[in-house]
Amino acid sequence: MSSLSSMGVDPSAVPYRSLANGDRMPAIGLGTFGSDRYTAQDVASAVSDAIAQGYRHIDCAAIYGNEPEIGQALRAAMATGVRREDLWITSKLWNDMHAPADVIPAFERSLRDLGLEYLDLYLIHWPFPNHHSKGCTVTARSVEAKPYIHDAYMAIWRQLEGLVKRGLVRHIGCSNMTIPKLKLLLRDATIPPAANEMELHPHFQQPGLFDFVTANGIIPIGYSPLGSPSRPERDRTADDSVDLEDPVIVAIAERLGIHAAQVCLAWAVQRGQVAIPFSVHRSKYLANLQAVVTARLTSADMAAIAGIDRNCRLIKGQVFLWKDGQTWQDLWDEHGYVTPA
Ligand code: NDP
Repeated sequence: MSSLSSMGVDPSAVPYRSLANGDRMPAIGLGTFGSDRYTAQDVASAVSDAIAQGYRHIDCAAIYGNEPEIGQALRAAMATGVRREDLWITSKLWNDMHAPADVIPAFERSLRDLGLEYLDLYLIHWPFPNHHSKGCTVTARSVEAKPYIHDAYMAIWRQLEGLVKRGLVRHIGCSNMTIPKLKLLLRDATIPPAANEMELHPHFQQPGLFDFVTANGIIPIGYSPLGSPSRPERDRTADDSVDLEDPVIVAIAERLGIHAAQVCLAWAVQRGQVAIPFSVHRSKYLANLQAVVTARLTSADMAAIAGIDRNCRLIKGQVFLWKDGQTWQDLWDEHGYVTPA
């Protein structure tokens, strides 16, 4: 699938983002959301081998249902001599654990499942409390779903700040936030977010949010960096476009003799974001790692890709809508939805 070799990558050659305390987040991580397609063991085996191939950043979450298996893979990697301090492990608090009494037990569960003494990054996965059953349809609505309520969000954030103070988490952050919500968080946080995990790919570049987070010292971690080509049917709509087939991406890939996926990742890292592509197939996750180390896009390539943004959000979050929410755009503070302060 690529002209690059099948050899692993020297982790010290992988670009990184520096944090205020001197920690380094590798600019590419392995996504671990296997969805309905891959078992927990499939994903854990990929984590194990990806670390052997040079990955040092793993993007986990309690809701992915595979943290115990990934924990075993991490333990095995460390038994081969990989040092804990050279790994970057992220996990996330799920939406049904937003009640004040649930936050710390949910964190402790992830820490225990992953078999670690601390996490590098703990994120609030979505800024809304809700619950929906696995495999539910896109029209399913939870009676417990609520919009963003800033005081409730800050009550969670204070507990995350406590985890940092106790040395159980090195950094805390958010995910799926908007500029209005981030402004409130930045106004009230004692420990500001180190990162915001957000959808980012050539057809969904979110330039306003990207500029806002980087201007505020928040690292943008881009999920679905390839345009999530294998996402489930429930996450597809007729208007969605396909990044990997974009003529601009394909032309650059042909010129450089690499795969379109590698162009998306080289673009992401050269732009300044962190990318967390998913695959359980070595040919793909290795090619992805190699791309950010060896592929070089010209400034003309970067400008051409900047020009293909279609504002095409793929992960719309419909199932998280609350009772009075009209459309999925309300989740993203579009159409004038007012964020309660
Ligand atoms: P990606 O854009 O990473 O797409 C993943 C798919 O792309 C895989 O199924 C894989 O196919 C295919 N692929 C991977 N590498 C290549 C390659 N080199 N060539 C061709 N195809 C390739 O999207 P995801 O939606 O999976 O997002 C990645 C990660 O981001 C998740 O695993 C998760 O960790 C995180 N995430 C976080 C969210 C949040 O709310 N914070 C939301 C969504 C995702 P195959 O399966 O055939 O290998």
